[in-house]
Amino acid sequence: MNQRCPKCAGALSALEGSVISSCAQCKGFWVPPLGFGEPGVVQRLMELDLRPEHPLEQDHRTGVCPEGHGVLRRARASNEDPYFLERCARCGGVWLDPGEWSRLAAANLLNDVTSLWSPAWREHLSEEHNRASLQSDLRSKLGHEIFGLMESLVAKLSDPAQRALVLAYLQQRLRDR
Ligand SMILES: [Zn+2]
Ligand SMILES: [Zn+2]
Repeated sequence: MNQRCPKCAGALSALEGSVISSCAQCKGFWVPPLGFGEPGVVQRLMELDLRPEHPLEQDHRTGVCPEGHGVLRRARASNEDPYFLERCARCGGVWLDPGEWSRLAAANLLNDVTSLWSPAWREHLSEEHNRASLQSDLRSKLGHEIFGLMESLVAKLSDPAQRALVLAYLQQRLRDR
């Protein structure tokens, strides 16, 4: 097989004893579905994964499946310092640019990578994004001190009954003044 890297068209070569291959040129990984379940795969690829200091230009485009199934579908993996994965809808293989394996591992996303292409994941990202913009808006309107007090109060209150009491009390106190 003469498989080519989806991003730079470099030659892909299989890792020893694995269904996973890596690009000789850009050092990205092609991971067929079975690859995610190989024993010790998380650690093995962590050791091989290059972690670039700057975002890679190649992360901004997609490519074609090395198995010849056409264009890969992209999925955003994070809001902060965003990066994207590409997946073949037909064979389920996933392309990872250098550094992406390590980031997925750190974010605990390697157990169920395919969920990143689901509507539920996009919803999760958009909720996270909305929460982050609400927080930064409030921080600038209320100032660091008051916002910080609110956040530490929220973090301290884990019990729902306690939360309800505090909310009711605050509503009343803040109305009275
Ligand atoms: Zn490449
Ligand atoms: Zn494919």
